[in-house]
Amino acid sequence: MAQAKTLDGKAFAEKLRGQISTTVASLHDEYRTAPGLAVVLVGADPASEVYVRNKKQKTVECGMQSFEHILPENTSETELLNLVKQLNKDDKVDGILVQLPLPEHINPQKVLDEIDPSKDVDGFHVINAGRLATGGDALVPCTPLGCLLMLKDYLGNLAGQNAVIVGRSNIVGKPMAALLIRESCTVTVAHSRTNDLPSVCRTADILIAAVGKAEMIGSDYVKDGAIVLDVGINRIPAPEKGDGKMRLVGDVAFEEVKSKAQAITPVPGGIGPMTIAVLLRNTVEAACRRRGWKFQLD
Ligand code: NDP
Repeated sequence: MAQAKTLDGKAFAEKLRGQISTTVASLHDEYRTAPGLAVVLVGADPASEVYVRNKKQKTVECGMQSFEHILPENTSETELLNLVKQLNKDDKVDGILVQLPLPEHINPQKVLDEIDPSKDVDGFHVINAGRLATGGDALVPCTPLGCLLMLKDYLGNLAGQNAVIVGRSNIVGKPMAALLIRESCTVTVAHSRTNDLPSVCRTADILIAAVGKAEMIGSDYVKDGAIVLDVGINRIPAPEKGDGKMRLVGDVAFEEVKSKAQAITPVPGGIGPMTIAVLLRNTVEAACRRRGWKFQLD
């Protein structure tokens, strides 16, 4: 079979950010204000610092307001909850994102559940999870929504497709399943206790890997002509780059699956870049809902 089409998440994210910038500019013209995103980081985790810096840069590039709150590692749970309460009340703030992971002495779910659901642009609040599961108007977690946007861009109508999602986390697997059920796919959610995972995966027209195990999904998991989305981000040693160097790979063995699938997302450059773009999209959506503006991405 011919090589799969590589679905370019970087280019798609750039296109989405372009649409967001246009929408933000027209909202600004009409209402004299721009949506605002508050990002809260506790502690000095180097990977989180990079994410927060990227989020700020992309937020500002799209014409939105960025409010950063960098707190020391020893911030108490009460202090963090108080900051979230303050951001809930701040009318300039349309979206609140608390960067995970939090230090061990803070209960992340308690903090996420303190965020006003109308400002919960990560879509992790139990109210938004419930609305998504029951078909209501939810703010949807960014990574699965990014996967859905890419799938619809490639396939159009998804109705009737057999989708298999490997992974059942609250941030990827479960919301992904809810989104695909909404699109009238027939959805299977697989996990570490699934029997004969390769044969379950081979039933998929759409296979989504969100496991966190480097290159686990080989060509024996993939039906000829399937569409494969790789959410996994794994760091593995890369001695070819020099001593102690690492490189990023997904959950899918890209090269071998490429010769079997119809389309595939690479790592890096696939689903990863979509996540921040969708966060900005969610912030615009939250602003429009809160302020009674019409939400439309051109
Ligand atoms: P979790 O660790 O929360 O969940 C992993 C899931 O994979 C679990 O449901 C687990 O099953 C399942 N699993 C683990 N081992 C196996 C196995 N051998 N066979 C079948 N299923 C297995 O991870 P996340 O959902 O948070 O993230 C998954 C991956 O996606 C990670 O690599 C993460 O870095 C990446 N990620 C990427 C993002 C992006 O922006 N691109 C955003 C979020 C995550 P069980 O429930 O039975 O334990």
